[in-house]
Amino acid sequence: MPIMEPYRIKVVEPIPITTREHRERALAAAGYNPFNLAATDVTIDLLSDSGTGALSAEQQSAGLRGDETYAGARSYYRFRDVVEGLTGYPHLWPVHQGRAAERILFTALLKPGQVCVGNTHFDTTRANIEILGGQAVDLPCQAAKDLDSDAPFKGDIDLDALEAVLSGPQDVALVLMTITNNGGGGQPVSMGNLKAAAAIARRHGVPFFLDAARFAENAWLVTQREPGYTDRTPREVAEEAFRISDGCVASLKKDAIVHIGGLLAVKDPELAQKCELLLIATEGFRTYGGLAGRDLEMLAQGLLEVTEPSYLRARAEATAYVADLAAAGGVDSVRPTGVHAVYLNAGRLLPHLPPARFPGFALATELYLAGGIRCAELGSLYLGELDDGGNLLKAAPYELVRLAIPRRVYTQSHLEYVGEVLAGIAQDPERVPGYRLTHAPPLLRHFNCRLEPVS
Ligand SMILES: *Cc1c(COP(=O)(O)O)cnc(C)c1O
Repeated sequence: MPIMEPYRIKVVEPIPITTREHRERALAAAGYNPFNLAATDVTIDLLSDSGTGALSAEQQSAGLRGDETYAGARSYYRFRDVVEGLTGYPHLWPVHQGRAAERILFTALLKPGQVCVGNTHFDTTRANIEILGGQAVDLPCQAAKDLDSDAPFKGDIDLDALEAVLSGPQDVALVLMTITNNGGGGQPVSMGNLKAAAAIARRHGVPFFLDAARFAENAWLVTQREPGYTDRTPREVAEEAFRISDGCVASLKKDAIVHIGGLLAVKDPELAQKCELLLIATEGFRTYGGLAGRDLEMLAQGLLEVTEPSYLRARAEATAYVADLAAAGGVDSVRPTGVHAVYLNAGRLLPHLPPARFPGFALATELYLAGGIRCAELGSLYLGELDDGGNLLKAAPYELVRLAIPRRVYTQSHLEYVGEVLAGIAQDPERVPGYRLTHAPPLLRHFNCRLEPVS
């Protein structure tokens, strides 16, 4: 079945077509770390779905209407109206990206020694909590442990574990639910789970927040998978999710389909006052928050477009198509397929490589060498524990590779190409070499490390 994208292409950008020799040289010069590659050396870039989407004609023209007034710009009011309509939150501010919203909210809400509990924290979210002397506790549901099962809502939080933590001795500052659960394979959270978790938090008097970077994709999967929601629109589901929560932080580089932007929104007026002071001190005045008027316009328009069912359907189909091509070529991925990415099971494809040789990294590297495809490892290089010499002490639970799909960017032919390159690697997986670290900085290792192949 062809994927019926509900748009056609008006502006094109050439992509680099390179030779294997060129890629071998580029990757060696990059210390084998894909984050060090220049975009001009990458043919299909699946490193991230963040800020990499294609703007619509309506977004472009909204951008031209941007009002760059310092305070009270027209564009701010448009942004506020759209976000208020979507979320219902009375206090809301633009920020330059998601992590700025995290820093402001946690600074206002979390004291040293306190805990933030969630389904699975995103890496910058965890970092912002730890920088403030707090602790991020992940409580993924039991179903999340089985990568191969088709359980529909593996992004859920474990409700019994949540109840236990909130009843226990730890001082919990907030509950934060990430929708969809990026750290947990891009799996969705059900509305049933969200409501039950909100009720538990409320009973214990603990604020309940969303990390809503992919609120529309979560809502789409709810309409496809959750009994009681199959006749609702994604917009209606998203509206409900925001309204049962006390506020949200969100990277708008994902589901607002823009290149930069974020959102902080709260219900509580006292908390709002604290947040606004921090915002003005570090991001910008309350009516622009580190963004230009044109960004606010494009964000507002993107937030209206992203819940269109025809767009979400085509996007979900494209991602599922990549997973199907991978499976047909002999490469398993985390089931069921989500919307923003396919998580390949590299550990299973490359059993000749132990975790200490970073099989996920090896597969990601091979995708680049074989086809100019850039993607990210989510395995022992990113999540494992290393000693000072870069030797693996404790492996990650799984060795995965994330193929993130940018929004409205690649065509079905591009995806077919990815499937073909992957199938080629899977024909002779034992040829794929392992890697060893030659340089491993202590913090945010995966961005800055360097490696070399081990023959
Ligand atoms: C991207 C992301 C963030 C951080 O947002 P930035 O815009 O990159 O700062 C936080 N949480 C989740 C779930 C994300 O996907």
